[in-house]
Amino acid sequence: MMKDNLFQKIIDRQIPADIVYEDDRCLAFRDINPQAPVHVLIIPRHKVIPTHADVTEADRDLLGHLHVVAARLAEQLGVQDGYRLIVNCKDRAGQTVPHLHMHLLGGRDFRWPPG
Ligand code: 5GP
Repeated sequence: MMKDNLFQKIIDRQIPADIVYEDDRCLAFRDINPQAPVHVLIIPRHKVIPTHADVTEADRDLLGHLHVVAARLAEQLGVQDGYRLIVNCKDRAGQTVPHLHMHLLGGRDFRWPPG
């Protein structure tokens, strides 16, 4: 799998990022172009999954872990009163980096439908 994408460079510390959490399976850092007062990206550390459509049964634990980390980070970052998790999948949904990532957004009100 391609390991030269932008987020891999952040994992490898070739590009700086404001990292708010890391463990053996994932990394979380602030989005460079935040769409809310809190906007963090949570990404797998070791496995490059290009898009959400590439997820398989083998990724079940990893994806569950990303969700648990998101819930704990929401608390730590003070947005546990309401937040939004987003995974953009492919061009049509606005995905720009081919390394699966979960957006954690909070600190403001969000509309539904998202548009
Ligand atoms: P996507 O559009 O693929 O769902 O999300 C990619 C996100 O990565 C965007 O929200 C964009 O602002 C963010 N991003 C792009 N380049 C960088 C960077 O160099 N550093 C950080 N921290 N975020 C980035």
